[in-house]
This record gives sequence, C-alpha cells and structure tokens, in this order.
Amino acid sequence: MKTIILREPYQLELTDTPPPPPPAANEAQLRVRRVGICGTDLHAFAGRQPFFTYPRILGHELALEVLALGDSSIPHDLAVGDLCCVRPYINCGVCDACQRGFVNACTTLQTLGVHRDGGMREIINLPIDKLHKSPTLDEEELALVEMFSIGCHAVRRSAITPGETALVVGVGPIGLGAAHFAHLAGARVIALDVSEPRLAFARTQPAIDHLIDGKGDVHEQLKALIPDGLPTVVFDATGSGASMMNSFKYVAHGGKLVFVGLFQGDVTFNDPEFHRREMTLFASRNATPQDFQQVMAALEAKHIDVKPWITRCDSPEQMIQDFPKWLDPANGVVKAMFKF
Ligand SMILES: [Zn+2]
Ligand SMILES: [Zn+2]
Repeated sequence: MKTIILREPYQLELTDTPPPPPPAANEAQLRVRRVGICGTDLHAFAGRQPFFTYPRILGHELALEVLALGDSSIPHDLAVGDLCCVRPYINCGVCDACQRGFVNACTTLQTLGVHRDGGMREIINLPIDKLHKSPTLDEEELALVEMFSIGCHAVRRSAITPGETALVVGVGPIGLGAAHFAHLAGARVIALDVSEPRLAFARTQPAIDHLIDGKGDVHEQLKALIPDGLPTVVFDATGSGASMMNSFKYVAHGGKLVFVGLFQGDVTFNDPEFHRREMTLFASRNATPQDFQQVMAALEAKHIDVKPWITRCDSPEQMIQDFPKWLDPANGVVKAMFKF
C-alpha cells in the first residue's frame, strides 16, 4: 500500500509498505479517505516540531472508512463501511489527568502523526474508542472535524456566554474554528490578523462580525467597536510569542485570555496589569470527545459552510510537490487535503 514517510526535515517520500495485520482486539482497520494538512505537519516538515523524531508518518486530520473490526470488549456503534474521523490523541487512561477527565492533557499523551505514526497511508489500524462516525458528513467534512475541535475546545474552556464579545487573534484555520464556535455560543466575534489573504477570507465568514487589521492601531479599531475597547474573551491562535504577550493588553477587566496556539519559549507579562484586570489565563490543548461530538453536530446541522475552505488534491505525488507552498498564507489556501 502507498505510504508517505517524512524521512527527515524537508524529505517527504512516497513508498510502498505492507498493509497492516488484521485488527487486534478493540481495534478497527480503516481505509484512509482524506488527509487534512495543518501547521503541526509544517513544523514537523521544517524540523521545528518539539519532541518529534524521524522518520515519521504524518497525518492526524483523517476521514476514514471502516474495513474490518476486531473483537471489542467496549460498546461501539461502528460497522464495516461506516465513515468516521479519529480523535488522534492516544491517552493512557490511568494517569491522574485521565482519571479526572482531562484525557486531552494525559501526562503521557501521544498524538497520531506526531509522536507516533499517523494516517498518510492507505490503510491503518486504530483503537475503536477513538473513532467518531457520522451517517451524514462527507469525507471532506470528516477530515475537518479534528481541526474544528481545537477551536471548539478553546471556546469551551472560555465558558463564553451569549452577548459577550470575543476577539480572535490570528484567523488561520484554528482561529476561524474558534470564531465559529464563539459565534455559535452567542458571542459577537471580532477577528484580528496581519495577513491580507486571511483577513479577506475571514470577511466571507458569517460567524465573524468585525475585522481588525493587525498592522494598524488595534486599540483604536477596538474602541470603534466596543465602548471601552476591551473584549471580555480573547483567543490567541497565532502561535506567535510576540502576539501572545501582546494579547494581554486587549482583555477586559474581569476578562479571559485563551492561548489556543503555542510557541517554544517563555510568556512574560506585567503582573500589576494582569492583577488590575483580575484576568484569567487559559491554555487550551487538543480536544475532548465532547468537543468532537459538538463539532460533528454543528457540521451535520450545516451551521458551518466548509466548502470554500478546502483546497483539494487528488494524489499523494502532487501533495508531496505542493506541500511546502500549501502552508504559506500568501497562497490563500485555507485548508489543504489530499486522498490516495
Ligand atoms: Zn492539526
Ligand atoms: Zn493519562
């Protein structure tokens, strides 16, 4: 079967590998129908992903078709032929975090396609309890569920309520997802970015009420939209340390700041300003089963029109060729995906 291996930084290779053995107990064997590409894959490609070893099979945003099911000791609703997506965070189930329900932040968590081999291959065996099926979502929508779940989880962390104002800093796919779920939670949504193509795409999204050009005076633009110029919840989805440290300035007194993206370094902030606002700072990591269910329900109900988001690609050969340029915001690609 076809398998794409990232041998070392900048070296993606299409190879032929033996298919996996029949599924073990509590596993399903699945055909990979779509693979979404995200920033994590770019970081791995460019050698910037922490705790990453080579060679590695990338791919954690997957639409899958059930080919076979192993014996299962856990209840499930999967049948051969079903389409599903995968929650790609492999947690231990026994650590204190897992026991307390923080399965997305397990102390030994491994993500498919990052810490262990992922879905850039024609057939894969996966744990049944990580699969979420949908009777109505198509392959492209299923390959977007994980990405949306990241934004959905960030919004859940914020506990934002109807009538609040959310500022989303950085409207790449993850920020757009946070914007959509903040909107679905009843918030007024302001999006901020420095990239012209990203702002132009954000303008087409009905979930976003206002846009702010990050290259201009942000405070002035915020003041024109909110009486005191400070949104109650700020989501930073840039993955830029400079932006994340700057985002403290935009949060209302009594407000919340959620770091959706992360960067490799220390965040510093002025404590008197932080205290004066009695601000709450959240990290948001991965997503929970509940987030996946909420995203799938929102997509099934057509609350988000994802068709304009997707740049398709029909062959792994072309994917390897196009990979580096897909991820440059200047190309206007919101979400790239391919199939075998
Ligand atoms: Zn991703
Ligand atoms: Zn655990």
